[in-house]
Amino acid sequence: MICKLFGSDKSKVRTNHTGSSCVLKWETILWQKVKKKYELLDYHLVPEYLQDNEFVLRHYRSDWPIWDSLLSIFSLHNETLNIWTHLIGFLIFLALTIDTMWDVPRLEQLFENLSRAQHMKQEAGDTVLNLTEPVTRWPFFVFMGGSMFCLLSSTFCHLLNCHSSSLTYWLLRLDYAGIGIMIATSFFPPIYYVFLCQPAWRHFYLTSISVIGIATVIISLIPVFQTAKYRAVRGLAFAGMGLSGIIPGAHALINFYQEPYCLQTLVYELGMAFFYLVGVAIYVTRIPERWWPGLFDIAGQSHQIFHVLVVAGAFTHYKGGLIFLEWRDKSGCL
Ligand SMILES: [Zn+2]
Repeated sequence: MICKLFGSDKSKVRTNHTGSSCVLKWETILWQKVKKKYELLDYHLVPEYLQDNEFVLRHYRSDWPIWDSLLSIFSLHNETLNIWTHLIGFLIFLALTIDTMWDVPRLEQLFENLSRAQHMKQEAGDTVLNLTEPVTRWPFFVFMGGSMFCLLSSTFCHLLNCHSSSLTYWLLRLDYAGIGIMIATSFFPPIYYVFLCQPAWRHFYLTSISVIGIATVIISLIPVFQTAKYRAVRGLAFAGMGLSGIIPGAHALINFYQEPYCLQTLVYELGMAFFYLVGVAIYVTRIPERWWPGLFDIAGQSHQIFHVLVVAGAFTHYKGGLIFLEWRDKSGCL
C-alpha cells in the first residue's frame, strides 16, 4: 500500500494493486508543488529585484513563467491595479486619438467657411479677411503617441516584472524611457501652436525639449538609475523636465496675454502641472503605505495613485491641446 515517489517523473512511480490511488496521490503532491511555486509571497521572501517598496508587505508574484505572468492580469496581487490603471489609460488615449483623427475639419466645412468669409468680406468692405486652412495635427498626435507609448510600456513593465531579474532590467528601462518620452512629447502641441507664427522660437523650443528628452532617456538607461535608492532622483529628474516648460510658458504669456484661447489653455496646463507634481510627490514619499505598511498591498498604494494622476494630467493636457487646435484652425497666423 506504499507509494514511493522518485523525483517528479511520473513514469518512476511504483505502484502495486492500488496503482490508481498512487497516481492520484502523485498528482495531488505535484499540484501542491505547482501551487506553492506560484503562490503569492511576502516581501521578505522575494528576490532583491522585486523588493522595491518595503511598505508593501504581501501578495508578491516571484519568478513566474512568462505565460503565468501574462495571465496574472486577471488575478489579484499587489501589481493588479498598477497594470489596470495604465492599461485603461492607454485604451482611453487610443479612443481619443481615433476620435480626434475623425474630427479633422472636413472639406465641406472648408467650403462652408469660404462662403461665410466671402459674405463677411462683402459686409466688411475693404477689411482683409484671411481664410485659413486647418492647422497641421502632427504635433498633437506626437503627444498622443508619446502618451500611449508610456502607458503601454508601463502596463507591460508591471505585468511582467515578476518573471526574472534580466527581464525586469529591460522593462524598467523601457518604463523610465516611456515617462521621458511622454513628458517631452507633451511639449509639442503647446510650443508648436503657440509659436506657430514665430518659426525661430518654435524650432528653438522644440529642439531644446527634444535634446532634454533624449538626454533623460539615455540617463534612464544607466543601470543605477532604476534602483530603489534613486527613487527621489528619478522623481526630481522627471519633475525638472516638466518644470522646464515654465520658460516657454512665460514667453507665451508675455506674447499672448490678451488672447482668450491662450489663457484658457494656461488653465489646462496648470491643471496638468498640478496632477503631475502631486503624482511625483506621492511617488517619492510613498504615502499612504509608509504610514500604514501592509494596509495598501492590494489597493490604495502610492504607485497606483501616481498612475491615476499621470492619466489625469495627460487627459487635462489633451483637453488643452484641443483648444490650441481650435485657436489655430480659426486664426491661423493672423
Ligand atoms: Zn508604474
